[in-house]
Amino acid sequence: MNIHEYQAKALFRAHGVAVPEGGFARSAEEAEAVAARLGAKVVVVKAQIHAGGRGKGGGVKLAKSPAEARQFAEAMLGMTLVTPQTGPEGRLVRQVYVEAGSDIARELYLALTLDRERGDFALIASTEGGMNIEEVASLTPERVHTEFVDPNQGLQSFQARKLARALELDAAQTKSFGLLLAGLFELFVAKDASLVEINPLVVTKEGALLALDGKLNFDDNALFRHPDIAALRDPDEEDPRERAAREIDLSYVGLDGSVGCMVNGAGLAMATLDMIALCGGAPANFLDAGGGADREKVKQAFKLILRDEKVRAILVNIFGGIVRCDLIAEGVLAAAAELGVTAPLVVRLQGTNADEGRRLLAESDLDIAPAETLREAAELAVRAARGA
Ligand code: GDP
Ligand code: MG
Repeated sequence: MNIHEYQAKALFRAHGVAVPEGGFARSAEEAEAVAARLGAKVVVVKAQIHAGGRGKGGGVKLAKSPAEARQFAEAMLGMTLVTPQTGPEGRLVRQVYVEAGSDIARELYLALTLDRERGDFALIASTEGGMNIEEVASLTPERVHTEFVDPNQGLQSFQARKLARALELDAAQTKSFGLLLAGLFELFVAKDASLVEINPLVVTKEGALLALDGKLNFDDNALFRHPDIAALRDPDEEDPRERAAREIDLSYVGLDGSVGCMVNGAGLAMATLDMIALCGGAPANFLDAGGGADREKVKQAFKLILRDEKVRAILVNIFGGIVRCDLIAEGVLAAAAELGVTAPLVVRLQGTNADEGRRLLAESDLDIAPAETLREAAELAVRAARGA
């Protein structure tokens, strides 16, 4: 789960990571009041959306007075902000964060995440902050420094010093950098985060270190033990398809392709996505209807897939273990009839009562292409999605 910058900064502050003073606003009047309260010569008005690159899209503005902060907030609130990370459709700005402006001497990059292959934390730092770090990593990889931290040993002070040297920090800054890293680790572990990214971490003209931006991701599977973090969820920022899926307890991830997928079991669902890709197509989604999928679940899953305008064909791939294929077939038929499915449908049923399920599909007057193997099913669906 993702949270907003202002929420991340509140958590940073609570764990001793220095951030500028600021306040959150839902209206231009509130933004002006926050700016007046901060009393800074310059304040920064920042659009709060779950995407970076806001600066490039006009979502970060420096204001020289509370009145100007009000004007920027007025323009930002309600606008659709398009940044390199939002896609062309952009994101609606519903709230802004107003912060005391900083005098920036240098912009650095700092991130903490997990390296799953090594089973370590990865602490990533670069002198090239404020820019697209992926670009820095590919064009000038020598400017990206990574320290792996063994979770059993924790961050060692020599590692903090090594990164501080790579970031060209002086003695006083090295000390505050060490404290900042300790705070980040504490936050990361205490809240089961999966990513903390500070871009930029700035050195101010006075020589202080400040987190000027903040991105925090959390492990969804650990949210049950962090009600305070779960409460930070902003449904407005989530993919509407994924939100609808969560509400009906379906495991769904929206993707960019054109083959809608309904599968039972996460492993089978992933194998199905791979097979579609192998056959030259692209899946529109991952959807695990669950081991105990019934008629109603199948119908709801169909509804979800059909909400996606990119879907050109639907592939149903069910292995009947606990579920009975004849019930799935009934669900498919009921959903197709009730929802008026017009996209070509390819159905592969295997396992318990598969013959019965196939018979039901064959006897219906709906245009359903049956498939025996996964390969055959994927080929048919990819071809159908291409309109062939
Ligand atoms: P992002 O574009 O979504 O990553 O938003 P950031 O919070 O990283 O802001 C983008 C850029 O705006 C930063 O890299 C800075 O160059 C600039 N910026 C943000 N806050 C301040 C500030 O307080 N003072 C100055 N001078 N620049 C700022
Ligand atoms: Mg940034």
